[in-house]
Amino acid sequence: MKEIILIKNGELALKGLNRSTFEDVLIKNMRRRLSAIGEFDIKKSQSTITIEPKSEDINMQQAVEILSKVFGIAGLSRAAAAQKDMDDILKVAQTYLKDLLLEAQTFKVEAKRSDKKFPLKSPQICNEVGGYLLSKYPHLKVDVHNPQLTVNIEIRDNYAYVRGNQLKGAGGMPVGTSGRAALLVSGGIDSPVAGWMMSKRGVSLTAIHFASPPYTSQRAEQKVIELLQKVSEYSGRITTYIVPFTEIQEQIKANCPEELFTIIMRRFMMRVSEMIARQDNCGALITGESLAQVASQTLNAIGCTDAVCTMPTLRPLIGMDKNEIVDISRKIDTFDISIQPYEDCCTIFTPKHPKTRPTLEYVEQGEEKLDIDALVQRAFDEKRILTVG
Ligand code: ATP
Ligand code: MG
Repeated sequence: MKEIILIKNGELALKGLNRSTFEDVLIKNMRRRLSAIGEFDIKKSQSTITIEPKSEDINMQQAVEILSKVFGIAGLSRAAAAQKDMDDILKVAQTYLKDLLLEAQTFKVEAKRSDKKFPLKSPQICNEVGGYLLSKYPHLKVDVHNPQLTVNIEIRDNYAYVRGNQLKGAGGMPVGTSGRAALLVSGGIDSPVAGWMMSKRGVSLTAIHFASPPYTSQRAEQKVIELLQKVSEYSGRITTYIVPFTEIQEQIKANCPEELFTIIMRRFMMRVSEMIARQDNCGALITGESLAQVASQTLNAIGCTDAVCTMPTLRPLIGMDKNEIVDISRKIDTFDISIQPYEDCCTIFTPKHPKTRPTLEYVEQGEEKLDIDALVQRAFDEKRILTVG
């Protein structure tokens, strides 16, 4: 029996004239992700995209798992292709959906006829299929309002597709349709979630991580790469820059008031990141900041951080509580990696009493002894680049 995957795209449908461009990006993204497990024929028609494996040994469950992480998909389902006659449709519905039909107590049938030449109308198809399945699976009851299983029959150009319940897709917009932004990523819980959220809105990701060897270990860097690997299952490939931060941190420690360490450090991260972001054609920076979570995330502190760059900084977590962020990190499977103990450059130089309401003037004064341009340039020049995903 020929099996395919049916994709319903979400917000794409709203995009009017742009729709076909958006769909093309979505199809390109799906094709690239699926190439890991085999070759597929991908076709679009109306609001549905059909994905057909080119060989029989392809693991369709794995294909569904991969596609459930592709942004721009509202719903997806595996479906069997039946011949366009009622006998075959009935037989396929009975056998292909057997396990689901045995498991369910209640069901209904929905039918859609894109091919208007098909001799039966939708309600007639529903009646025939429903009656037949009831005769084969007598434990079932029809429930049109809240069925456990909805059997879908779709009569299209070449086949009649038979499927059970639709799975929820990842939603959002296809990655690549909203430009590119640079994610400042630490080994913590928040920044990978922030990257995932912007990627969900169609942004391609570049990642920037500041490492301070020997204060931070190789293992801490590896942790960041593992986090990005998880995010890349959704966002696609992530160009990643590892930036040496040791010199900057030591200079701050030696020359600035302790209560400003964190905020001055964050200002340096923004300066270097903006340079990298411009070089990499990014339109924005992304951070995992959440208002009032820590001293460097008060409105004053954020104001002082923002003052050093002209590029917009996206902070998708700004209004979220920690437990809401944790829920997402569990969902995208980054949580268990994030809570591993390896030290990050911020924790090592954290002041005992950080200033929560710094004025910009005071912060700028605090930086006066530093040769800012030279430090930023050196960190920029000494970055390493790698690709994740
Ligand atoms: P996270 O869980 O993302 O580490 P956090 O709540 O611990 O966030 P901070 O450590 O204050 O917050 O960092 C705020 C933001 O600054 C992070 O979300 C991240 O975007 C960025 N950031 C922090 N440390 C680094 C780093 N070593 N490299 C790159 N970006 C960083
Ligand atoms: Mg952190």
